[in-house]
Amino acid sequence: KLRVISRDDHNISRKNISPAVIKVIKQLVDAGYEAYLVGGGVRDLLLEGKPKDFDVATSATPEQIRRLFRGARIIGRRFQIVHVRMGREVFEVTTFRGASDDNPESKRSQDGMLLRDNVYGTLASDAMRRDFTVNALYYSPNDFAVYDYTGGMEDLKSRTLRIIGDPVTRYKEDPVRMLRALRFAGKLGFAIEPATAQPVRELGHLLENISESRLFEEILKLFLGGSALATFTLLREYGLLANLFPGTHAALADGDEFSLRLIEQTMSNTDKRIRAEKTVTPAFLYAALLWPALQREKARLLQAMPESAAYAQAAQQVVTQQLQRTSIPKRFSIPMREIWDLQMRLTQRAGLRAVRLLDHPRFRAAYDFLLMREDAGEQLDGLGSWWTRFQSATEDEQEEMIKTLN
Ligand code: ATP
Ligand code: MG
Repeated sequence: KLRVISRDDHNISRKNISPAVIKVIKQLVDAGYEAYLVGGGVRDLLLEGKPKDFDVATSATPEQIRRLFRGARIIGRRFQIVHVRMGREVFEVTTFRGASDDNPESKRSQDGMLLRDNVYGTLASDAMRRDFTVNALYYSPNDFAVYDYTGGMEDLKSRTLRIIGDPVTRYKEDPVRMLRALRFAGKLGFAIEPATAQPVRELGHLLENISESRLFEEILKLFLGGSALATFTLLREYGLLANLFPGTHAALADGDEFSLRLIEQTMSNTDKRIRAEKTVTPAFLYAALLWPALQREKARLLQAMPESAAYAQAAQQVVTQQLQRTSIPKRFSIPMREIWDLQMRLTQRAGLRAVRLLDHPRFRAAYDFLLMREDAGEQLDGLGSWWTRFQSATEDEQEEMIKTLN
């Protein structure tokens, strides 16, 4: 089943590979182990993209890898990997995985989820344990050949995302693979092969078995990979939004068009910023993603209390509900709440309030969020353009602007 694609038959050029990772591989090979480049790095090289990082697969065990490299660290328990530092770069080095059935080093839950997977094997078995065929291509910097056990080269050419093995079994082993499927499909613009796609709609609930912190990390990858809008659309299409953001899903299902457009614009803006190599703050993303839930909850509470109380209580509830699904580290949830709080305060401009708001550390993000809401079609009486003018006005002009507020 192995296909070896020799250097003349593929387009990987060594100059696009980090010299440091080639060194890591050479050191492993010199010590008598097998070692290859694998994963997204190889996939992106073959697609003539710029690889984000390089992963290494080797026959050396974590302990053997650690002894070989100074400053190498074994991380993870469920799935051990070694972080190897070479110069200023850090690479993930993993030991070839083996068949996990009936092995004490492998443990499954009743749902079939792999709780522990540290059974070692060969290059061939390692390929079968990877998620998608296009992620299971190995490149050897020694013979310059690509090793393909799963038909990944063909799938790469036809731009197809195909899971390796039986889709349901593989999703049950690790439900995060469903998110990865949508992430790669969105990012690479690949079609999801029908048998790979089909179970996703039915197995979304398995994401409930994934820890809140791992889900948070995966969500960041979904939206910070440069294809947030495409990925968000896929999440809705496959119903996984309901599992990741239940409050948002419920509000969108009610037909909240403004909020949908607000999220879509935030996503497309995020993609533009990433393409331009600008920074993106997850707080802003989360502020938009949870905005529909906030609006829905606030509308419900407004029947029983004044607006500011309804808002405060709604914000509290939305965050509490979301934390049951995905963690949101304080460094993101606090600025997210500030962006929301400021949406109210941006309407209260009398006296010195407006001038003071300009100095708020979150003013810029909140102002951007306000413009986003207006772009999405919310009618706010020209509040956005008022703030646009206010920022570039002289002190006298600002005073006049505040005096003429009604
Ligand atoms: P990216 O471009 O986002 O880094 P990647 O394919 O390199 O994409 P990683 O998360 O870095 O993704 O994982 C590296 C490789 O490890 C994958 O290409 C895949 O072969 C394997 N892998 C990662 N996660 C899983 C998983 N949940 N199940 C099976 N194999 C996985
Ligand atoms: Mg990678």
